Amino acid sequence: MLEQELKTLVRDVPDFPQPGIVFKDITPILQHPEICQQVVEEFAKRLANVEFDVIAGIESRGFLFGLMLANYMNKPFIPIRKQGKLPHKTVSESYKLEYGQATIEIHEDAIPSGARVLIHDDLLATGGTVVAASKLIEKVGGEVAGFCFLINLEFLQASGRLDRFSTNVISLLTYA
Ligand code: IMP
Repeated sequence: MLEQELKTLVRDVPDFPQPGIVFKDITPILQHPEICQQVVEEFAKRLANVEFDVIAGIESRGFLFGLMLANYMNKPFIPIRKQGKLPHKTVSESYKLEYGQATIEIHEDAIPSGARVLIHDDLLATGGTVVAASKLIEKVGGEVAGFCFLINLEFLQASGRLDRFSTNVISLLTYA
């Protein structure tokens, strides 16, 4: 079963990026092309009833499966990047991290007006990153159609924070 295979592959790295944090490392999944293919097919299956026009992936691990999925579903892919990385004119959104703050950006012309956007990232923790990404999508004239993640750290109860943008929240692996 895919979920079980993914759980076996995801590696817990204690004390990364700082002491006390157990980081879920998805890179071992990328060593298995057949499982990557199954991940993409499973996302596509679960998205069958979600209407969207484009996929936005969040730097950097959101680019991995975000682009694979966009190609598989024949949808355009839009990168959301950390501040200062996108070359053209951008719109920014800042959000709080546990310590300090982060800023992410999107190209101001990335999204056709009114386009429905599926947001993808590797992992949902507190939800701060995808809430900021959703605000960016709205600032540039798009509409959030849903979210998909490889991993949802469900014990952090972030999905409630996403409701005001979309209740379509798909994750392949949950940690309760
Ligand atoms: P949030 O903003 O608290 O939901 O954190 C999610 C963001 O942090 C995503 O962009 C993730 O890639 C990253 N992140 C947080 N914890 C982990 C982890 O354990 N493994 C991989 N990425 C993580």
